[in-house]
Amino acid sequence: MMTATTGNEVTQAQTTFESLGLAPEILKALSESGYTKPTPIQAQAIPLALAGGDLMAGAQTGTGKTAAFALPLLQKILPLASNSASPARHPIRALILTPTRELAIQVEESVKAYAKYTNLRSLVVFGGVDIKTQTPSLMRGVEILVATPGRLLDHVEQRTLQLGQVQMLILDEADRMLDMGFMPDLKRILALLPKQRQNLMFSATFSNEIKKLSEAFLHNPTLIEVARSNATAENVTQKVYLVEQANKHAQLTDILRGSDASQVIVFTKTKLTASRLAKQLQREGLLADAIHGDKSQKERMEALDAFKQGKVAVLIATDVAARGLDIDQLPMVINYEIPSAPEDYVHRIGRTGRAGASGTAISLVSPEEEKYLAEIEKLIKRQIDKLPGITGSRSGREAQPREKREDRNSTRGESISQPSRSLPKKKSSDPWFDKPYEPSGTATVRPPVNRHASGRSKAPVAALLGGLRRQDS
Ligand code: AMP
Repeated sequence: MMTATTGNEVTQAQTTFESLGLAPEILKALSESGYTKPTPIQAQAIPLALAGGDLMAGAQTGTGKTAAFALPLLQKILPLASNSASPARHPIRALILTPTRELAIQVEESVKAYAKYTNLRSLVVFGGVDIKTQTPSLMRGVEILVATPGRLLDHVEQRTLQLGQVQMLILDEADRMLDMGFMPDLKRILALLPKQRQNLMFSATFSNEIKKLSEAFLHNPTLIEVARSNATAENVTQKVYLVEQANKHAQLTDILRGSDASQVIVFTKTKLTASRLAKQLQREGLLADAIHGDKSQKERMEALDAFKQGKVAVLIATDVAARGLDIDQLPMVINYEIPSAPEDYVHRIGRTGRAGASGTAISLVSPEEEKYLAEIEKLIKRQIDKLPGITGSRSGREAQPREKREDRNSTRGESISQPSRSLPKKKSSDPWFDKPYEPSGTATVRPPVNRHASGRSKAPVAALLGGLRRQDS
């Protein structure tokens, strides 16, 4: 059975971190992080989690959900903190499971920052790196372990960790864990944990599968939601350009060159398109790079760091690779191809408009993709503004007067179609890259747009990012 809270907006608006009863050590770290007051999900989740019950929380990335589970977790295990060097005094007391390595890393960074003034230790373990490098830190003892499921089970098999004293379990981005095929791993992990424990589950979307998962793993959970499930952030301006597949590249370049945005994530459906697009944009003089599951962990972290530091302005990403990326104040997200699973649209645009900042989410939608657009609009329960995109061939487009295109494409005075300020307008000279989109059967580019029309292929996606333990973890 699930209890839903309605949430009292007046009370929540008045909530402070102090009034939540958090310890001075935690408050000090929060103030150093620049947090002045709890976000709505924090104001709702923290008191409930401190009270000890199970929680099923609907909150997408960008709402402050990490602190919503990390702060009560730290507060609850703080009395057990020890300054002893003995590993026995630092058993794993809280386990945080995340679907991807990148999210695991970010969650642990946050936990570490909030626990800075305590004696609590945290560690992150994920696949794709030599397991031996993680063992010494585990052996020293950690109270809070952040892990991807496959690698956690590898450590269990190698007896490099023990889960017998876990008193809190957090499933972060539970919907994505299911999408990536982690259910069998989750079941195995849950069987290894003490029965007496608190469970907090966070999910951006509330599908029937998620409801089933919560029924199976949570005990009388309280349901909290900060926004309507599957809603997209109110402060994100969404729009669609209706554009033929063959004209998408020109449309993208046009948007990028005219944009004031210093950082943009461009989403593609496949890693091949991500790589191809990144190379193409680099040739055109844009600071672009790609992040996807075929790149090594090191390459992905380097690309992400370069993006965070502003050395890369345009990051091309596939859904799995971008999942959970915590990039503050990302002003713009562009869907080069819209996802066939509408929930992925919600996740993608959750990259922008974080923590109250405003953002723009632009989708390039070809006629073949319009059916997916309809599904997205059904899910988010709103119509997205549609604008006519660039038409005609590349050369035809270039023959058009610039002003005319700007006029047609601009909306509400936004600068996305203004002439380039600083980016050179070099044209790609590689015939392979200049070839228009060719549907299946040829040696090139990508599968037909409707490849996943009858459901997504889960295993290969999982394999990209650590979802399949044998291959990746
Ligand atoms: P999350 O949804 O956990 O990924 O958090 C999104 C971003 O909001 C992160 O950059 C956090 O550091 C930031 N954040 C979380 N809580 C707060 C808060 N109470 N005040 C300001 N920023 C916050």
